[in-house]
Amino acid sequence: METNVEEVIICGSGPAGLTAAIYTSRANLRPLVLEGMEPGGQLTTTTDVENYPGLLPVLDDFGGVERIDGIQGPTMMQVFKAQAERFGTRFEMDEVEECDLKTWPFVLKTGNGETYRTKTLIIATGAAARYLGLDNELRLRGHGVSACATCDGFFFRGMEVAVVGGGDSAAEEATFLTRFADRVHLLVRRDAMRASQIMQQRVFDNEKITIHWHTEVVDVLGEKEVEGLLVKDNRSGEEREMDTVKGLFLAIGHTPNVQPFKDWIPQDGEGYLITKPDSTVTQVPGVFACGDVKDHVYRQAITAAGSGCMAAIDAERWLEAREAGEG
Ligand code: NDP
Repeated sequence: METNVEEVIICGSGPAGLTAAIYTSRANLRPLVLEGMEPGGQLTTTTDVENYPGLLPVLDDFGGVERIDGIQGPTMMQVFKAQAERFGTRFEMDEVEECDLKTWPFVLKTGNGETYRTKTLIIATGAAARYLGLDNELRLRGHGVSACATCDGFFFRGMEVAVVGGGDSAAEEATFLTRFADRVHLLVRRDAMRASQIMQQRVFDNEKITIHWHTEVVDVLGEKEVEGLLVKDNRSGEEREMDTVKGLFLAIGHTPNVQPFKDWIPQDGEGYLITKPDSTVTQVPGVFACGDVKDHVYRQAITAAGSGCMAAIDAERWLEAREAGEG
């Protein structure tokens, strides 16, 4: 069956995809956003966003800025989406499963069984939380093992939990979990955290957090739910049980969501899509990548949004050049 050819399809609806949508819709390209199965992306599993410039001014009686408040991650994504809709962006809760980027217009087949054709494609599919890969850890996912403190922290009121990792995510999750848990054990595999100084300091200052340096999880104990952890000191090799821990939160980084595109767009050593330096241009003309799917260095809402804007401009210019060339 013949399908319409879209000017631009954007895969992903985090800050990168939605910013690309705002810009391409304002350029009258009527973008279609395939939101994916986690609309809003990783920010929907975050609490307060305090480092995104411009949010949220509280005005004084004279119209001046009295103070700036943080914004909840999910709310922020609703704002981005509403802004994109305002200029005519269309949304489908669907995701690409296969594509053909050799034919042009490109062909995309989705999980809902749709086939789309598009002149340009913006990949903004983000990244997903990593797990350690232990059998029992994966088996007990959703039963005490989680990679999202914001989503699941509430269930551990008055209990002891552990967080694995030493980056900003681990620091943030550990701090957040102290709202519910009586004690949070932060398991760091080295003798230092890689989190920013301010986030580390929050951890050090929080009496409910105990840091265990040089500590790795060997096994997750429990049949139906987490009943403890087997951990190891990686200097001495000594193993011990932490049987008071009833929740395990992973905060050990992310894997980029490249699956349907991986045979078409080259990836770097860590699996992130490669684009030309300082641009969103991929090896396939007409295909652009932005946000966390191509960036393992900065990975911030603001940088993702910035690269979504770049992708929109790159796509618009590519279409213009192609039409000028054809005309
Ligand atoms: P990072 O890659 O920064 O940190 C991952 C952490 O997990 C490291 O401490 C790493 O240890 C540890 N780790 C990795 N693999 C394992 C393993 N198998 N076992 C045990 N520990 C492991 O990821 P984050 O998700 O923390 O942060 C990603 C980016 O997002 C960063 O740029 C960060 O600044 C940003 N971010 C910012 C926030 C904010 O500003 N509010 C909040 C959250 C994230 P090691 O150091 O030994 O490699």
